[in-house]
Amino acid sequence: MTANEFIALMAEMDSAIRRRKELEHQIERGKRSLVRLERELSERVDARRAKEEETKAARSLASDQELEASQVAQRLALRREQLGSAGSDREYSAIKLQIELDEKKNDALADATLETLSQIDRLQEELQALVEDERAASERLENQRADFAELEPELRGKIQDARDALTALETRLPREFQGIYSEAVSRWGRDDARAPLDGEYCGSCNQGAPIDLVLRARSGQPVQCLSCGRLLYLPDFD
Ligand SMILES: [Zn+2]
Repeated sequence: MTANEFIALMAEMDSAIRRRKELEHQIERGKRSLVRLERELSERVDARRAKEEETKAARSLASDQELEASQVAQRLALRREQLGSAGSDREYSAIKLQIELDEKKNDALADATLETLSQIDRLQEELQALVEDERAASERLENQRADFAELEPELRGKIQDARDALTALETRLPREFQGIYSEAVSRWGRDDARAPLDGEYCGSCNQGAPIDLVLRARSGQPVQCLSCGRLLYLPDFD
C-alpha cells in the first residue's frame, strides 16, 4: 500500500465513522424532540386541569350564593308578613330593622353573585383556549411520533451500513498495521483507535512524537503514538 493509498484509506475510515455518528445524533435529536413535546403536552394537560378545578370552584361558589340569596328572600317575605301583625311599636321597629339588614345583605349578595358569574364566563373562555392549546400540542406530538417511527428504522439501517463500511475498510488495512490497530481498538474503541498527526503532535493526546516516527508515519509506515498507543496517520488535506 502506498503512502497516498494509506492516507486515502484513513480518510475513508474517518468518513464512515463521521457518517455513523451524524446518523446517531439524528436519532438522539429525534428522541429529544419527542421528550420535549411530551413535556409540553403534559404541562398543557396540567394547566387545563387546574383551570377546570378553578371553574368548578367558581360554579360551586355561585350556587352557594344563589342558595343564600333565596334564603334571604324567603326570610324577607316572612318578615314583611310579620310586620303587618306586629303587636307593639317596639316589635315593629325590631322587625323593620331586620328587614333593612336583610335588604342590605340581599344587595351585597346580588353584587357578589354577578361578579362570580362574570368570573365563570372569563374562566370558561380561558379553559376553551387551554383545551385548544392542549389539542394542538397533542397533534404536534402525534405527528412527530409518526415521523420518527418512520425515520428511525431508516436511520438504523444507514447506521448499520456505516458500520459495515468501516469493517470492510478495516480489512483493507495492510497486515503490518493490524497489530497496532487492534491493540489501539481494544484500548480506545474503533472510533478512536487512530489519530491524525497534527504537525509533530498526536492529534488525539497532543503529545509530541519523535521526528523519526513522524517521518515514518508520513511515508505511510505503521506508527504508534508512544504516549496513547493510537495508530498515527497523515490527515488527508484535499
Ligand atoms: Zn497519542
